Amino acid sequence: MLLTFEQAKKALLEAASLNHKPLTEKVTLLAALDRVTAEPVVSPINVPSFNNSAMDGYAVRLSDINQSKLLPLATTIFAGDDISNLNWPIGTCLRIMTGAPVPDEAEAVVMQEQTESTPAGIKFPYEIKSGSNIRYIGEDSKQGSVVVDKGIRLTIATLSSLATLGIAELTVFSKLKVAIFSTGNELFDIGNPLTNDSAIYDSNRFTLKLLLTQLNCQIIDLGIIADDPNLIKQSLETASKLADLVITSGGVSVGDADYTKTALAELGQINFWKIAMKPGKPFAFGKIGNALFCGLPGNPVSTLVTFYQLVQPLILALVGQSLTTNRMSFKVKTATNLKKSVGRLDFQRGRLQINTDGELEVFSTGQQGSHLTQSFNHANCFIVIEQDRGNVAKGELVTVELFNNLLK
Ligand code: AMP
Ligand code: MG
Repeated sequence: MLLTFEQAKKALLEAASLNHKPLTEKVTLLAALDRVTAEPVVSPINVPSFNNSAMDGYAVRLSDINQSKLLPLATTIFAGDDISNLNWPIGTCLRIMTGAPVPDEAEAVVMQEQTESTPAGIKFPYEIKSGSNIRYIGEDSKQGSVVVDKGIRLTIATLSSLATLGIAELTVFSKLKVAIFSTGNELFDIGNPLTNDSAIYDSNRFTLKLLLTQLNCQIIDLGIIADDPNLIKQSLETASKLADLVITSGGVSVGDADYTKTALAELGQINFWKIAMKPGKPFAFGKIGNALFCGLPGNPVSTLVTFYQLVQPLILALVGQSLTTNRMSFKVKTATNLKKSVGRLDFQRGRLQINTDGELEVFSTGQQGSHLTQSFNHANCFIVIEQDRGNVAKGELVTVELFNNLLK
């Protein structure tokens, strides 16, 4: 029976929640890029931790300004100065630099450009608003407040804001251990010559390594395994002992040499799905020992699309990342006709572009066969065409899903 794409994804996410082993570890802030927070991050201090000046200028009391628009200069405060013993006579102003502490009595900092320096003191010709150019304590983060939720993948921007809080270590979920291998007598490692006419490069394992690196997994690479039932069985057993998740490509279809299927049927509780999606109909999923297993279809485009659409959410769920901010999809007009047969959900590759009228449109990137990898070149989105829909004519609305940073 054909499973819908949504049914398959739901089954994967359910398995993830059942098999989620929330191991955590402490890492330095520098090592935390792309890791997922295992607990909410709480600000240990107020930032700023003291009132300070947003400008190079002059700190004033408004009562002094009401008395006179010309105030003699008392002293200068620099960033890093200790002002606990500051002597600031009534009727004077203070020269103050950006980031320097503002005394409690100061009600505003007037930027230098809005003042005039004279031998008698500083002139303040313009109106001064109470509180202007003072950065107040806790304005950015309040001590004790949650600044990053649990389950968030840490970006440079987020880590940069945590550095302002002085946080040097974070508790994150441990990396997922993922074992991979390819199956097929026709496969050769990239970098080596193809020594016979029916040989091809093992591009899938290379692709999987990039994808798993991008998802910050720990990769266990078991190489290319020949189409030999015993070798495949051994490799699956080894992989399942070393890893939390085993991913293979090829051999899950109905060909005579699709031994992965036979080996899996003997080893574990594996379901051989036929998913109503294109590319990527055959997909094996289940458990071998304590490890989850995903068997991806062998054609390179199918491998990449099924990984992106199904394995990516599985991995994110397994490492505890919340999925809510991971996808962006919307409707736009297609600028090209799109070929589509009714019956499967299509993930065609497209390019979003701005046309000469300044409107967003999507173009097909060309031929969409699951063996034709050039359709990924220059693509920046999936054109997601509903299962029940047929050919789409130029000008019709289609749903596009922008590639997230996994495919950047
Ligand atoms: P299979 O599912 O093993 O029947 O493979 C389907 C198609 O994908 C065949 O044309 C294979 O040669 C090709 N293929 C399988 N594994 C890989 C791989 N690791 N890299 C590139 N192509 C592959
Ligand atoms: Mg094969």
